[in-house]
Amino acid sequence: MAKVEKRKLGVLTSGGDAPGMNAAIRAVVRTALDHGLDVYAVTEGYQGMVDGGNAIKPMAWDSVGGILQRGGTVIGTARCADFRTREGRLKAAFNLVAHGIDALVVIGGDGSLTGANLFRQEWVSLLEDLVKEGKIGKETARQHPYLTITGLVGSIDNDFFGTDMTIGADTALHRIVEAVDAISSTATSHQRTFVVEVMGRHCGYLALMSALACGADWVLIPESPPDVENWEDVMCEVLKAGRAAGRRDTTVIVAEGATDRNGKPIGSAYVKQVLEEKLGEDCRVTILGHVQRGGSPSAFDRNLGTLMGHAAVEQIEKSKAQSEPMVVGWRDNRVAYTPLMECVEKTQKVAKVVGEKDYEQAMALRGDSFKDTFRTLRTMVRSLPHTPKPGLRRMRIAVLNAGAPAPGMNTAVRSAVRLGIDKGHTLLGVRGGLQGLIDGDIQEMNWMSVNGWAPRGGSELGTGRKIPAGKELYAIARNIEELDIQSLLIIGGWSGYEAAHRLWKERENFPAFNIPILCLPATINNNMPGSELSIGADTAVNNVVEAVDKIKQSSGSLHRCFVVEVMGRYCGYLALMSGLATGAERVYMHEEGVTLLDLQSDLQNLIRGFEGGKRISLMIRNENANPLYTTAFMYALFEEEGKSLFDVRQAILGHLQQGGNPSPFDRIQATRLAERCIEHFSELPESENPPVMFIGLQGGEMKFFEIDDIRRMADMTLSRPKEQWWMDMRDVAKVLSKPGPKKL
Ligand code: ADP
Repeated sequence: MAKVEKRKLGVLTSGGDAPGMNAAIRAVVRTALDHGLDVYAVTEGYQGMVDGGNAIKPMAWDSVGGILQRGGTVIGTARCADFRTREGRLKAAFNLVAHGIDALVVIGGDGSLTGANLFRQEWVSLLEDLVKEGKIGKETARQHPYLTITGLVGSIDNDFFGTDMTIGADTALHRIVEAVDAISSTATSHQRTFVVEVMGRHCGYLALMSALACGADWVLIPESPPDVENWEDVMCEVLKAGRAAGRRDTTVIVAEGATDRNGKPIGSAYVKQVLEEKLGEDCRVTILGHVQRGGSPSAFDRNLGTLMGHAAVEQIEKSKAQSEPMVVGWRDNRVAYTPLMECVEKTQKVAKVVGEKDYEQAMALRGDSFKDTFRTLRTMVRSLPHTPKPGLRRMRIAVLNAGAPAPGMNTAVRSAVRLGIDKGHTLLGVRGGLQGLIDGDIQEMNWMSVNGWAPRGGSELGTGRKIPAGKELYAIARNIEELDIQSLLIIGGWSGYEAAHRLWKERENFPAFNIPILCLPATINNNMPGSELSIGADTAVNNVVEAVDKIKQSSGSLHRCFVVEVMGRYCGYLALMSGLATGAERVYMHEEGVTLLDLQSDLQNLIRGFEGGKRISLMIRNENANPLYTTAFMYALFEEEGKSLFDVRQAILGHLQQGGNPSPFDRIQATRLAERCIEHFSELPESENPPVMFIGLQGGEMKFFEIDDIRRMADMTLSRPKEQWWMDMRDVAKVLSKPGPKKL
């Protein structure tokens, strides 16, 4: 039988670097090896392909070890003028064929992917030329009849069609948000005004989302220039009113590509000049520049890179001869494939229509969520509410936090209070969770009561796990009546939902409970039914990942295995996501259980790994993975059996997971969800039997469910949803964390 040649795959990063590219490279290399393919890194982008020789390197399992936490791209990237010419691409084709490569995963922006598509279209003719020139034989050309290409989008700008998030955008948001939070603290102390310029020549995503996440006071983006000629006066009026209302600092965020309606660039220097002249304020400019590109990738970008890289190889394996190249993207929390050229064309169209000053179309092309966010922001930055529209229902809405503190709770309360007041409602803040509702610890909140809350961790209102019962229900009913509370927004975790359910069940006994109640999922455990993600979970995963990065470094040159215990109650989300983002060899969670056989086999893998030259091993264990095989037990078992081959350390991360400022993602989602809840209250008709519901994020959408659905959708004993969408990611984690072949 003829020997079947292994297919050879190349991976390259091209154009601007982006954090998370390394995760993608690691996933491409390991998935390819796992599929039995040979895999090569083409270094320095297309330049390496044009140069050939040592620039195209074979990759082994261990070549991509220890790179997940590193920013940039370990295989280098470049802009390559040669590749824009046919001559350059001819050389590139020769170099690929010389290595037997005829499949490529290209990680880059729209330029890189356009180049890749052109190269693929020309492939046959390039090989014909190489045959004519005598550089390759006819047989070689016959062996590589087509070039298979899959694209991954690495770009901090999040400016690409076919994916909700590009690899690197979330990290860039982290960098911006950290910087603006830091600037805000000094600005508040000195009552200063700051103009912060962020990246985004054609795309205002980073500016818009960071403004929303940080509670900035004005934002200027390329897609939607100020709609009036005298925008400077309008901006200054709003900022002045904010100061008059008691705000101690002012932050304006400007995207580098922001222009006025006539296409004239605005620039941060001009904004500073305007603010100084019109407000007479001491104004400072910070241009964040390349800081936004750099540093360790966020947990989301590591996992995005990993999932995309894995899917790209699967796509290449599936693709038929001459099939259309695809971009692997992330849409509605799932891997999505879109034809590459469709993505490139739509992406380039936004830049084109912005250039033509067709701003309406530019915003339309960005999509509804972008447009809605911009509209929300324009309300949030005001210092005073709009005059409410007539005809909308006005209510007295009480808002409270419930359960353990989750980063993002304050952001959600801020959004509910401001957007609620803006719609003409009266907002009442309940202190200390459900206990505050029992005790009547309730105060009216105004626009400025939540000033500065967007970035704060913990719960400013105070929270607790109280689920009211018995006489406490009377106390709540009395307070609802006395304070004329007409609806209730509970922002929190499991205990908040249970409390809402109880109030609903007790309606017959307490007519006062006949008010609409909404629950908004906020818990680091991500264990709420109806929502693929809950507020706080992203921050917690990042907290775990940062801690584990440090723990891993502490091992020095020793051979060490770490057993790290994370929170999550009975839900393995935190364990799996942080395991995926840190390259853990093994993730233990309650959903899968832990048996003695598992532990034996894990021990064998550990021994095999350390014997094979491994230096660090990481096991992540959910706090309730198994009641008997505890972290201490696993530590003792591995330590004893590891003998002199490796030692073991355990780390129980504890409450650091719940703390810290909320991540950009948690702030953005908290704002959106709270806004949707307020809208829901406003739209409710008067009814005898008003709804008690919980809201959730499902894919890209926000949905409401009846509170009683919780029984259908969740395992009530284990306090977690019956179906957990993220469980599918276990397979990827398992492939990538295999011990790899023994080193020689
Ligand atoms: P990005 O991929 O981040 O958008 P660039 O637009 O700079 O970055 O593109 C990166 C590289 O991709 C270029 O330096 C060039 O080598 C290649 N490239 C871009 N556009 C084309 C094209 N139209 N034809 C061939 N190669 C291209």
